Amino acid sequence: MLVQVCPYCREAEMSLFLGGYGGILYRCGNCGYVGPLVVEMSSEQYEKMTLKKRKGKGEKIDQE
Ligand SMILES: [Zn+2]
Repeated sequence: MLVQVCPYCREAEMSLFLGGYGGILYRCGNCGYVGPLVVEMSSEQYEKMTLKKRKGKGEKIDQE
């Protein structure tokens, strides 16, 4: 399953803001970003990323 992730805050809170002749815009429910860019990744990748983020930089995590 693919999730759409905000390129700024990396939260999967993106929703369709506007879609029409001018293109598609997405809005982030977390930071309020509006734009055509979203990062698409698998829910598995997203889980890993959020785990790393919440663990912080002090720990070394090897999940591969
Ligand atoms: Zn955001």
